[in-house]
Amino acid sequence: MNYTLEELKKLKVNFHFNMFCNMRCNFCFYAVEVAKAKKVVNKLDDWIKIVEKLNVFKAINFAGGEPTLYWDELKSISKRSKEVGLKTSLITNGSLISKKEESDVLEVLRNFDTVGLSMDSSLISNNENSGRAIGGKSSLTKNDYKLIAERIKKAGCIFKINSVIHSQNYQEKLIDFIKELGPKRWKLMQVTDVKQPEFINYKITKAKFEYFIKNNSLDKPNNQFSTSIEDEETVFTSYVMIDGEGIFYDSNWATRKDAISLLEENVDLLKEFNKCGFNLKSQLERYRKEI
Ligand code: SF4
Repeated sequence: MNYTLEELKKLKVNFHFNMFCNMRCNFCFYAVEVAKAKKVVNKLDDWIKIVEKLNVFKAINFAGGEPTLYWDELKSISKRSKEVGLKTSLITNGSLISKKEESDVLEVLRNFDTVGLSMDSSLISNNENSGRAIGGKSSLTKNDYKLIAERIKKAGCIFKINSVIHSQNYQEKLIDFIKELGPKRWKLMQVTDVKQPEFINYKITKAKFEYFIKNNSLDKPNNQFSTSIEDEETVFTSYVMIDGEGIFYDSNWATRKDAISLLEENVDLLKEFNKCGFNLKSQLERYRKEI
């Protein structure tokens, strides 16, 4: 199906400008790319050009890899995104937000309307068993997560938490710690098949995912935060993604040979967008409450 520019104006685009990451989550959707990613340099001019062209969308989300590993670049491209009229959000594992000087953190975070913290467990053992840890070995602590939450809120951002539910954490009662952190929204995602051998150790059935939901009382209304619950199928089909080379991609990205970068002269953005198999209906459903 071909979409129009009018329809793009309602959507959020996820800018995965690099896959470099300091964690090694074994269930990471981009585990293969993260494992081989190197830190690239001197890409700022290209990334600025890409966000300027993406102003046909409603909002931009900076994702990775871990976007904050490009601290200075992130500061510049998020600022430019706001200048060209985009709503901005960030998905981060939080590690640098807890380590950097507070004044520096607040200066960067103030460029974002929303910040989503990826946090799956309050238990160091769960995080380290799943690789949600620096170098795959050293988990953030509860105090680190509390500091991250405090700084995101202090910067005036809408604070969200994203949690992937997998074999290591589906039995955890996480809700009390989430309440302590105080997000506006908690998004739960059933771990998605990342097509690599280790995935089998993290996969859970829908019944186990539902067990987590019930065990954390998320099947009942609560007045502290809203929730969004995505099973494996939803996660797979409904994100608009573009990489650091300016190429739109979907879940079939490895098989695409005809993509043209937005960095090319006179490229037709809409034509490039429509080469992907995005499912606009489910995206609109997803973003209806979020943007
Ligand atoms: S922190 Fe995010 S990008 Fe990095 S390995 Fe984990 S899931 Fe992947």
